[in-house]
Amino acid sequence: MHEYPITEQIVKIASDKAKENNARKVTRIALVVGEYSGFIGESIQMYFDIISKGTICEGAFLEIEKIKAKWYCPACDIYYLRQPFSFACPQCGKDGEPTSIGKEFYVKNIEVET
Ligand SMILES: [Zn+2]
Repeated sequence: MHEYPITEQIVKIASDKAKENNARKVTRIALVVGEYSGFIGESIQMYFDIISKGTICEGAFLEIEKIKAKWYCPACDIYYLRQPFSFACPQCGKDGEPTSIGKEFYVKNIEVET
């Protein structure tokens, strides 16, 4: 549900960008959504279809790049994907630390048609 306001923002950003470029429409919006960003790509897609209706963004392709969360082991100096129910480093078996990888959420690219 909290994807609604963020999707409104995305439509606004893309619309502003299109207007700046005197574009007729927005054709593609590339989003980066981390696994731990708190946002669900499928929900954004659903709200996007509703919110973009009648705007310059209607019919634009929403490309969602999902980033898997990674953990860091200071002892081994490696980043790794955690296994289900475990935070353990695959090399030494100690619990690693959470990192900012997987918390990303941003508009990567907007393509418009002039
Ligand atoms: Zn380790």
